[in-house]
Amino acid sequence: MGCNLDCAFCWSYRTRIHPERIGTFYAPEEVAQRLVRIAREHGFRAVRISGNEPTLCTAHLLAVIQTVEQLDPSLLFVLETNGIKLGEDEPFAGALATCPNLHVRVSFKTGTPENFELITTRPREWFELQLRAVEHLHTHNASFHVAVIAEYAHEYLLQRLGLISPAILKSLEYEQLTIHPSIQRRMKERGLLELQRRI
Ligand code: SF4
Repeated sequence: MGCNLDCAFCWSYRTRIHPERIGTFYAPEEVAQRLVRIAREHGFRAVRISGNEPTLCTAHLLAVIQTVEQLDPSLLFVLETNGIKLGEDEPFAGALATCPNLHVRVSFKTGTPENFELITTRPREWFELQLRAVEHLHTHNASFHVAVIAEYAHEYLLQRLGLISPAILKSLEYEQLTIHPSIQRRMKERGLLELQRRI
């Protein structure tokens, strides 16, 4: 629960802004047990924790991933992250890379530092942390790919990713936005609908 960004098009903003009001906190073992049980009941081959930013509590997340692997080594754990923590903390990225059941999806909100600031309301310098996360995962041979919101993608991001490794571009995923009325209102307030049309 919670996030270090404030994306205009975040669909899980209620739990992000008021994590204490919604839901229950669980120990890593309980989370892992529930994930494995759900996967078995439905015949899923992969599990993930979705909504908000799962890397905020590094020890908790690592324990969840490792416990899932102990309970069912055949299950893939997909970590969806904005990459900020992985960019700040190379040892954390290295620890994730040692998990044999893990695949990381690094989600970029846009392709330039200027747009990053508009979309997330966080300093444009943090855009570099996302790129550093990709560098750290690449350096440690982690299983990962990069996704970017298609409407706000930019050539600049492709150039920077290509400098880390051309292979990253081959697996680049373009994500389509789903814009609900409440999201559209926040995007309009931040001038993003206009920006979308300019790209
Ligand atoms: S990174 Fe994800 S959870 Fe965080 S604000 Fe952006 S869309 Fe929401």
